Amino acid sequence: MTPPKPSATFHPMAQKSDYPIRCPKCGHEQTVSLYDAIDVKAEPALRTQLMENKLNSVTCVACGFSFRVDKNLVYSDPTRKLLIFWVPTSEDNFALGEEQFVSMLRDLSGLLPDDVHAPTVHLVFTRVELIERIFLIEAELDERLVEYIKYSLYTRNAERIAPEQKLLLFNATDSTPEHLCFVVQDAQTRQFEAMLQYSRDAYTALVETFESGEKSADLLELFPGPYISARALLLRERSEPERPAQ
Ligand SMILES: [Zn+2]
Repeated sequence: MTPPKPSATFHPMAQKSDYPIRCPKCGHEQTVSLYDAIDVKAEPALRTQLMENKLNSVTCVACGFSFRVDKNLVYSDPTRKLLIFWVPTSEDNFALGEEQFVSMLRDLSGLLPDDVHAPTVHLVFTRVELIERIFLIEAELDERLVEYIKYSLYTRNAERIAPEQKLLLFNATDSTPEHLCFVVQDAQTRQFEAMLQYSRDAYTALVETFESGEKSADLLELFPGPYISARALLLRERSEPERPAQ
């Protein structure tokens, strides 16, 4: 027997749950109510909190220390039909993080009525990626094309921007009508070190190139998802042994 299916479409409203949280400074444990999901259309203030690094922040009742708790979070913006899953994952566990995400999505799809397709979802592993993806979608850019651009920026600047040490991030604030702006961040120190520009005309040309069926399949093959990241792709390519020559 199939379980009854909910009639409503998938729509994660703001949800909070209680968690036992230990203070990293004094070790005191307290129960804290933290967000599992936020809907920024229903509650725009939660988007602001996230951007200001105040979402899911905790102040220890014993010592007064404030800290942020990084936990699974679903970011929903129904206006843009946008769903981003943030699953905090360390770099050496990306493959596992993707697997867990796919199985979670499978469970989720099982709850949807047959005539409803699962919404397009994004998977990110860090808070920085979450913020970047929000800005990218709000700027109406395609995440696969942006990662494709990053891939070529990494490759063209191989001396200066080694994917092992450097992150490339889309920067909405400094982007202009003429240029998309990317910043280079050191993976260890988190320092921003340089800024790269990519012309919007070149982006538009890429959109046109990849609109054709064959080319768009190439892009999907390069970034099948669910985790779409030029840096992760480059690191994977480098860790794989060379394929034997034909
Ligand atoms: Zn404390």
